[in-house]
Amino acid sequence: MKFVHETSPQRIRFATGAAAAGVVAEIGLIGAKRVMVIAGVPEAGIAKSVTAGLPVVLHHDEVVMHVPVEVAERARAAASAAGADAIVCVGGGSTTGLAKGVALTTGLPIVAVPTTYAGSEATHVWGLTQGARKTTGTDPRVLPVSIVYDAGLMVTLPVDLSVASGLNALAHCVDSLWAPRADPINAAFATEGVRVLAAGLPKIVQDPYSIEGREQALYGAYLAAVSFASAGSGLHHKICHVLGGKYDLPHAQTHATVLPYVLAFNAPNAPAAEERLRTAFGASTAGAGLQALRQALDAPRALRDFGFKESDIPAAVEDILPVVPVTNPTLATADNLADLLRSACEGNDPE
Ligand code: NAD
Repeated sequence: MKFVHETSPQRIRFATGAAAAGVVAEIGLIGAKRVMVIAGVPEAGIAKSVTAGLPVVLHHDEVVMHVPVEVAERARAAASAAGADAIVCVGGGSTTGLAKGVALTTGLPIVAVPTTYAGSEATHVWGLTQGARKTTGTDPRVLPVSIVYDAGLMVTLPVDLSVASGLNALAHCVDSLWAPRADPINAAFATEGVRVLAAGLPKIVQDPYSIEGREQALYGAYLAAVSFASAGSGLHHKICHVLGGKYDLPHAQTHATVLPYVLAFNAPNAPAAEERLRTAFGASTAGAGLQALRQALDAPRALRDFGFKESDIPAAVEDILPVVPVTNPTLATADNLADLLRSACEGNDPE
């Protein structure tokens, strides 16, 4: 074994029903006296209860998916006008993304309270959109200093969004196994992430109020994000980044739909990943395990359901081909990528 692994410094507080006490404790540790709360309008109620015990100087609710630059700039200006000394963000990846956009230029510490399984709270990756172009980068300043996980906040996330978001987390795990900085440590996180997500998500579909299911999915989402942050973007993330940016496809649903096709594409040439995934799913093959889970979840099937068209494939391939990681186990060509996208567009059998 030979590898270099970097671990991100972050405190994790995980307790159902204890988010409000958790953020008070974390803000106390930072010593902040003037808190900016970022939460979108739909999450305002959750944010109000979670932040009731804090010295809040500003509630900011302009949250837009993919963080347009002008939205980030207004939030930065509001933070500085209010003299904020810390941010508490309550919401999904879009909300955490805005908090990161503020931290990137102000250096304000973030305490993140996630309400989806996107996992942005556990990465040092930021993303900003200018016009139709999304730029991403990494910076230690945007990594939240602490995360407060409370599975009780997840029960309002509708089942279809929970499934898409949970499979987005699963995609972080799977893609980590062949990403450019894949190593035995992030593979261990990824494998355990698959195991608990596969156990938790069906419980949520059966009963959205299942705390056991919500806790497993949330814990899995954290493991998934850590493995992704550490291993980097593999083929799956490169494809979804192009599709999301160029065709404005919804983030979690795109990941959920594309994943089985990337797995079928790479698994035959990635025996160690295949074995890890097969074992984590408890199935005869990794592909069979993923398909059985997707069936149990009634997962999204076809990119065309989200507005992607067969005529979009050549331009998408042109953008994807140059960014395919050199470490990808299967050699990508314009032809086999076009086949992959055609199958994902139509929702064909991935095998
Ligand atoms: P999102 O944050 O846009 O939320 C999706 C929807 O769910 C919204 O309508 C929101 O109001 C609703 N919602 C959220 N929590 C809820 C709850 N508990 N109950 C009811 N409704 C709730 O979507 P997302 O998938 O969480 O995040 C997507 C964004 O995050 C994308 O921009 C993506 O690029 C980014 N992202 C970044 C990273 C990173 O590491 N930087 C990782 C993953 C995702």
